[in-house]
Amino acid sequence: MASAILQRILDIAEEKGAISIKEANILIGELTFLDREQLAFALRVLSKETMAEKCKFKISVVKAKIKCSECGYRGKAIYDGPEYHTLNFAVPLNCPNCKGVKIKVTEGKEVLIRKIRLKVNSIGK
Ligand SMILES: [Zn+2]
Repeated sequence: MASAILQRILDIAEEKGAISIKEANILIGELTFLDREQLAFALRVLSKETMAEKCKFKISVVKAKIKCSECGYRGKAIYDGPEYHTLNFAVPLNCPNCKGVKIKVTEGKEVLIRKIRLKVNSIGK
């Protein structure tokens, strides 16, 4: 996962003609169950000897949002039980409005690269 994220950051930087990457803001959905600390550590290790070697990786977690197909509720999800704290993708989710289980996760499963600060070689362009 971390290497895929780093690859995307490097691809973007390369496209923009950067010589190094100063900072990258990454959003991770809470349902990805990625650990911020672990991800940051992995990124630091993987970025050695790349353009992102001195990059500050800022990682924020996006809360899960759902859409209920029974009552039409859209918004925050509630977690049914302590399973939320385990590394288990089969988290039971309920609609907080009607307690229905026919829900669709609309946010919280994604990994997004939101903002990257680059150092661009000013000679040339
Ligand atoms: Zn509902």
